Amino acid sequence: MPHGKPAGIPCVQLLPDMRCAIFGQPERPAVCSSLRPTNEMCGVNRDEAMTYLTALENRTQPDWTVGRDR
Ligand code: SF4
Repeated sequence: MPHGKPAGIPCVQLLPDMRCAIFGQPERPAVCSSLRPTNEMCGVNRDEAMTYLTALENRTQPDWTVGRDR
């Protein structure tokens, strides 16, 4: 995804079975390779992980009002 992955949009490398299509390959982004999952991040099931991820995405949304004329 040359222009970055927008929040809420699955990565193009995500396979239908939720595995990474380029895991272990040099093309895998550094941010993915360096990520060390934690219990807080993963929770005990997919729903908890998605809740955590959604909260992160919401908290890191760009402030579209900065620099804009109103
Ligand atoms: S590990 Fe990175 S490249 Fe692989 S599916 Fe997830 S976000 Fe995409």
